[in-house]
Amino acid sequence: MKNLVILGSTGSIGTQSLEVARKQGYSVSGLVSGGNIELLEKQAREWKPKTVAVFDEEKAKELKIKLADTSVKVLSGSEGVCAVAEGEGDTAINAIVGIAGLKPTLAAIESGKTIALANKETLVTGGEIVKREAKEKSVKILPVDSEHSAIFQSLQGAPKGSLKKILLTASGGPFFGKKREELENVTVKEALNHPNWSMGAKITIDSATLMNKGLEVIEAVHLFDIGAENIEVLVHRQSIIHSGVELSDGAVIAQLGTPDMRLPIQYALTYPERSDYAFEKLDLFKVGTLTFEKPDTDTFRCLPLCIEAITKGGILPTVLNGANEEAVRLFLEGKCEFLQIAELVEKALNSVNNKKEFTLEDIFEADKIAREIVRKGD
Ligand code: NDP
Repeated sequence: MKNLVILGSTGSIGTQSLEVARKQGYSVSGLVSGGNIELLEKQAREWKPKTVAVFDEEKAKELKIKLADTSVKVLSGSEGVCAVAEGEGDTAINAIVGIAGLKPTLAAIESGKTIALANKETLVTGGEIVKREAKEKSVKILPVDSEHSAIFQSLQGAPKGSLKKILLTASGGPFFGKKREELENVTVKEALNHPNWSMGAKITIDSATLMNKGLEVIEAVHLFDIGAENIEVLVHRQSIIHSGVELSDGAVIAQLGTPDMRLPIQYALTYPERSDYAFEKLDLFKVGTLTFEKPDTDTFRCLPLCIEAITKGGILPTVLNGANEEAVRLFLEGKCEFLQIAELVEKALNSVNNKKEFTLEDIFEADKIAREIVRKGD
């Protein structure tokens, strides 16, 4: 039976991971949140983990008082989060949002845990380092992102070296079909209104700008050792085909399902086994039609910016990610316009000198600089 550590347990992926864990009868030895202590307290009382951590130090103090009648140990800050990541447990689900997930991923790898990775920013910013560490420790990194899970599932049984192309599907987000002029006065509420998926705020905005698809291209480059030029993005409005692969003989293999993250979460936890699925299954008669269109990269500039960043390589994907995290934060706070997100990211990319060789410290430095450029530039 699996013993899980869930990093970001109070978020969209975190709470769905706990639903899967409940159905599968898994135990939980560690939970982490950013600052939501109300939900974390509830989760701690239900799951009785050994340790929990709250990134926000003040909130952690409050939670310690709330949980004083239990044996749950409460840690705080970045060190506390990493301590949970490397504490007891055989599998770490990383469902933290943003680059804040990078160090906890490395801490979990260091402890030899299998990584079920939802936090795509881990690979976007630290892909090379994370892969090197995982190889050294013989740790598996299993994708939770639905597209990467679909690619991974499609590759089961495919001979090594037979992957020719990845078909990465995108819902297109709430603004598919709209032109730049129509996006000038987009509100936060409109951008948060995703047609198919219910997710955290940051990834929902990333879906609206197509940044999410670009980050997924970068994630796929790292996970599947493939060049960005061999990844084709297809807008597939129904979100039924979660992605697929083209193999050397021309066969296309894809994975289909309802738009529900619980299946890819479950697969990452049961891999290589399959287990009964307790949630809604796909009914193709209900779906009827599946459509595919090319993305509009003139309107949705974030996608080509990601491809440019990963093609040039080095520290640029980190700069892109940091600039985007900051620009999305400003947009959500009403401090910048929707279309400015891509402009600010582009500005950051054009303002830094690329570095081909870099350390973990360089990544955090580049992230800081990118955020400063965005804050100055809005
Ligand atoms: P949410 O915003 O819903 O949840 C984020 C989680 O991270 C929360 O538990 C939050 O805590 C926690 N957190 C935030 N900052 C920190 C920090 N500094 N230290 C520790 N914990 C922190 O995001 P999602 O669940 O939507 O997304 C999580 C990740 O999964 C992202 O990388 C996203 O791209 C990826 N993903 C998400 C999908 C989805 O369907 N939601 C699909 C595929 C990938 P708190 O609640 O206290 O703020």
